[in-house]
Amino acid sequence: MSRNTHCFVPGCKSGYSTKSAQPTTKCSLFKAPDQKLSLWSNAIPRLDRQLTVKDCVCELHFRPEHVIQEDKICVGNDVVVLPRQRPRLHEDAVPCIFPNLPHYLTKEHKLPRRTIVKHCCSAASASTDDELLHVDESSNDTCTSKQITYNDLQESHKCLCPPDWFSKTGDGDSVVCFGKLVVENNHLKVVTCVSVSRDMKVTLFCRDRIVQPVSLPVKITYEQELRTLLSAVDGMKECGGASGHNTEYQQASLIKSRLGWYDECRFTWRHVNCAGLVPSHLGRCLACRRFRKIMQTSYRRKQVNAGRKRKRAQYIRARKVVALKKRMMRFRQTVQLLRKRVQQQPKDVVQNYISDLPQVQQSAFKHCIRQASVRSAKGMRYQNEWLLSCMILRIKSPKAYNHLREHQFLALPAKSTLQRYMDVVRAECGISSESLELIQQKVVTNSERHGIVIFDKIKLRMGVKFDIRTLKFSGLVSFDEFTSSSDRKLPADYGLVFMYRPFLGAWTQTVAMFLSHGPTRTNTLQKLLTKVIVALESLDLWVCIFTLRVLTCF
Ligand SMILES: [Zn+2]
Ligand SMILES: [Zn+2]
Repeated sequence: MSRNTHCFVPGCKSGYSTKSAQPTTKCSLFKAPDQKLSLWSNAIPRLDRQLTVKDCVCELHFRPEHVIQEDKICVGNDVVVLPRQRPRLHEDAVPCIFPNLPHYLTKEHKLPRRTIVKHCCSAASASTDDELLHVDESSNDTCTSKQITYNDLQESHKCLCPPDWFSKTGDGDSVVCFGKLVVENNHLKVVTCVSVSRDMKVTLFCRDRIVQPVSLPVKITYEQELRTLLSAVDGMKECGGASGHNTEYQQASLIKSRLGWYDECRFTWRHVNCAGLVPSHLGRCLACRRFRKIMQTSYRRKQVNAGRKRKRAQYIRARKVVALKKRMMRFRQTVQLLRKRVQQQPKDVVQNYISDLPQVQQSAFKHCIRQASVRSAKGMRYQNEWLLSCMILRIKSPKAYNHLREHQFLALPAKSTLQRYMDVVRAECGISSESLELIQQKVVTNSERHGIVIFDKIKLRMGVKFDIRTLKFSGLVSFDEFTSSSDRKLPADYGLVFMYRPFLGAWTQTVAMFLSHGPTRTNTLQKLLTKVIVALESLDLWVCIFTLRVLTCF
């Protein structure tokens, strides 16, 4: 029968051939005796496999006094000591030292001592303190070998109960439970529970969850085993879990990975294989420790990536700015070059180029060239036609004028310059004598003497101003001599305009302008119209029709 040549105990490297595994001293391997196979198997904290007759255990796991290295032979009256070539085991030897496993699994060898055991099971003897205690003189070894059945456990479970624990039979006497009492948030709670079923199988609970810490037996045969198990569980604490954060990012990634779950009771993430209980000197179980590391790595990687992205964006922005600055420099140089070339061009050449353009465009072009050739646009002289075009443009849209001027589309005079010119123009109410003179100049043929008077009202922005040149208020209602005394003080909001237009001829000339507050009364309008017609007819004109607003047919 072939047998294994290495040690069965987890973590032990005796018998392995690799160099790193080679122990410093040679040690012997022992096969488990058939009758003690289950005793050895239960003593060795290994869950994945049961000990068989083929397996071996090395001498490191036995008490030194149980490994017999020499034989003593009595020769006559003398005792002769002969060293053995191959050590043998004492008949009581059971593996109990596990140097590569947590220290609580190694059963310390204590000298036999007086142990005090509580006699809780007999209610009769629980009357006085003296009677409660009796001295157990039996040695540790006999205790180890004392087998325990379920019935024994039912009777003596209260004796086996460690301090701060309670025990109870339940589920129709099919299970014996040992619970550890803990005070949490002013409540007495059972956090850890060990239940032993009728077939002596052990189940561990931690907060209603079945847990299986490493290297705790799943089945018990001996009373001492149960004591060791309970004291081991008593010395353990709940696994602290992997992390205390439950962020959205973690929820998304961790639930997807199915590596862990969030413990709502303890506010922490746990690995799916969380051992639940850990030795008191450790914070968390091995699975949770690894899980925590994975979480930390992923979090760090995320942060690093975010930093990298930010830096990349900054770098791209900086490069764009540099490129744009370079472009701007190039454009400036080009503009300077073109300016020089324009200055060097003879004037008649430019005139030849633009001679085909309309008059206004020629004017605009000339002004642009003139502005390019002077060092500063301040104090530049403009032609009258161009100033008039600029004034009309500014009246039509001040915003468009500002835009064109600011972005240098055209050589436009400043706002103040235009205002200076516009202040010269006087807008007065009544029939304008200048307009009548203009009409007289314009009317050349007899056919132009027949015309039409058009009158219309224009909505004006209300505003009364005091004119310091005429020392009069402007912006009040004005119908010349027809203004009533009540109307005189009202601010005007409508302009009443009278125009003359000949039947033949493509021109219209404003004749008179009045200011009114709201609609003009009919009798006032009649008087004004009559006055305008009389003024026009005095110029040898024949007004045939008067109408409100311009008709499209004209
Ligand atoms: Zn070993
Ligand atoms: Zn854990």
